[in-house]
Amino acid sequence: MTIISGVRVLRAPCCGNHYAYPNYRSMNFCAFEYWTDGWSDGAAMPIGEGVRACTCGSLFLSRECELVEVKESSDLPSPAWASTDDFRLHIAKNVEPNLMRAMRLDLWRDLNHAYREEYRAHRDKEEADIQAEWHAANPDRRTWWDKVRRKPAPVYRRPDRPISFPRFEVSDEQRENMAALTALFVTRTCDDGDNILLAELFREQGRFDDAKHVLSLVKPDYDPIRQKVISTSLERLEPMPIRFRY
Ligand SMILES: [Zn+2]
Repeated sequence: MTIISGVRVLRAPCCGNHYAYPNYRSMNFCAFEYWTDGWSDGAAMPIGEGVRACTCGSLFLSRECELVEVKESSDLPSPAWASTDDFRLHIAKNVEPNLMRAMRLDLWRDLNHAYREEYRAHRDKEEADIQAEWHAANPDRRTWWDKVRRKPAPVYRRPDRPISFPRFEVSDEQRENMAALTALFVTRTCDDGDNILLAELFREQGRFDDAKHVLSLVKPDYDPIRQKVISTSLERLEPMPIRFRY
């Protein structure tokens, strides 16, 4: 579980403003659903790259703040999360590479949110239809006497049928952001976490061979479930973000 004790006072790198952050003693990253682009929903912990909006007008990364002190409590404000519009505004500026990469990663996930909504609705409807079809084919034919003898009703078991996804169409803004983000990845030394993200970026751009190549560089025991979801959708030449569970 997530346990918070006191606050950490941090100095923002842009202007030196002080902010209060919860002091996490233990963190729980469990979420209800995970997505191949690294987004997760329902987590007890904040997700994303940690980009914050400073009152001075700049954006900064929480991990690049300097620790001033740890206290019981503080009247200092917590820094606001940067919004999608903040990213749009600041991407046009000449900011340092780590911040640029974090902003574009968050913007990539933000711009996938509309598709996530469509995806959930599509998947819910498909599952409801399959269930309704099953119930029509397997009606409860128990007699009064069967019920007295507590004979169980037919129990729904999902037929082994592949799932389908709504079409994934990207806007010009998504296309431009994914291309720029890819360029930021390929100019640096990537670890396994970076390579999974890069493989996913290639896949969502329809660059399936590049995605396969980058995914082959990732150690097999690094986040194997997510690797498997990405490689399965690569085999099917599917470009959309995929929801999965651990
Ligand atoms: Zn500032």
